[in-house]
Amino acid sequence: KEFAQISLKDIEDVAKSSFPLCMRHLFEKLREDHHLKHGGRMQLGLFLKGVGLKLDDALAFWKAEFSRKVGAERFDKEYSYGIRHNYGREGKRTDYTPYSCQKIISSTPGVGDHHGCPYRNFSEENLRAALNKMGVTGRAVGDVMDKVRNRHYQLACTLTFEAVHGSSCDAGINHPNQYFSDSQKIMQS
Ligand code: SF4
Repeated sequence: KEFAQISLKDIEDVAKSSFPLCMRHLFEKLREDHHLKHGGRMQLGLFLKGVGLKLDDALAFWKAEFSRKVGAERFDKEYSYGIRHNYGREGKRTDYTPYSCQKIISSTPGVGDHHGCPYRNFSEENLRAALNKMGVTGRAVGDVMDKVRNRHYQLACTLTFEAVHGSSCDAGINHPNQYFSDSQKIMQS
């Protein structure tokens, strides 16, 4: 699979324009709490790798946030390993692939976790607020909610994509990195 590329300086902008809700949520929580638990670090970390964030940039990105919470030293000791591991530079040196929607939807986040699929895990009120923040309003919100009620989370995400971009997504959303690259194609055209 080919994914678009991003660099560290663009990450804030592309998060707003092209991240699916699951990744926007993790990104916002990381900025807010300067921390994410393991499940969130994996889900967002592998996604960012998939969008083309290089290992050095990834380390700088995570360190900038985590340092504010746990300090730079503890970040280097406890958290940088996991990031290098995701990039296949530690342990078994497996080059881990970003999670698909199916995998994310079937995960079971616990208390204090922010990973998983918001269409499945958010309360209706929180989901409405999150959609509004993405610029989804009016009838489109009701249409997304209908899909959620029928547990068609990927279709809900597809409708969100279409509302946000004003453009159809015939293939449907099945991977957060596909959401990203389809979005970037539209933004750049
Ligand atoms: Fe993320 Fe997929 Fe859920 Fe969309 S459907 S929010 S891309 S896991």
